[in-house]
Amino acid sequence: MALEITHLGSGSRGNCAIINSDETRVMIDCGFSIKQTEKRLGSLELKPRDIDAIIVTHHHQDHSKSAMGASKKWNIPLYCNQFTAKKMNWEFERCKIFDNLERVDISSKLSILPIPIPHDDSDNIAVIASDKNNERAAIVTDLGDATDELIKHLEGCGHISIEANYDNSRLMNGSYPDILKRRITGRGGHLSNEQTSEILERVCHPKLESIVLCHLSEKNNAPHMAESEVLMRIDEKFLGEIAISSQTGPEFTHFLGDGKMLTI
Ligand SMILES: [Zn+2]
Ligand SMILES: [Zn+2]
Repeated sequence: MALEITHLGSGSRGNCAIINSDETRVMIDCGFSIKQTEKRLGSLELKPRDIDAIIVTHHHQDHSKSAMGASKKWNIPLYCNQFTAKKMNWEFERCKIFDNLERVDISSKLSILPIPIPHDDSDNIAVIASDKNNERAAIVTDLGDATDELIKHLEGCGHISIEANYDNSRLMNGSYPDILKRRITGRGGHLSNEQTSEILERVCHPKLESIVLCHLSEKNNAPHMAESEVLMRIDEKFLGEIAISSQTGPEFTHFLGDGKMLTI
């Protein structure tokens, strides 16, 4: 039995991923339109009824956009923390509200641990998913810095999807106004390729099987820049697969436990 991780797409125009353990499937974020999400599920030969729950990491549109609509249309529960529900004006009774750092059992086969991470005016979370064999996968986007708590949990993961949002010199020499540059590089902003590399270097262990770099800025980053910066840091000790999730997906599924990557 494997834990499967598939990104339907990632970036500032929408984020959505599926984690599957033995036919329990959770959707992590629902930042595309419902139509687009259903289309992308279809390309994986999945139907909305194959999804058991939606987890929303934080209230920003690229993560939350269609979550409530999809939850209603597909008749599946939506999980989020209180701050996110409040910011989205979602009725609390309509959501399954979790507390950060408290495990959420989606089924006996799949659990989720929400880890708080610093990001703008949100109560954003990283998601650590685990199956009953204790295989663990992380999805971490939208943070300006890593906390000790996050590092501790990433150290136990066999798969890590983590944002590599911008290349520092591209951002600094680019056309964004200074105030936006400060926001992106601040503790509540996003991770640069360099920061992501440092985090991965800290948490890399022999059983880390796969890494997906996601939420790349289309203006201030490029896949080859993100990948080469990370590999420069961890090449010596990382033996697994590395891939990029772009805005157009899904591109691949990672199977945790057997180390194989399927290209579709
Ligand atoms: Zn955000
Ligand atoms: Zn985002």
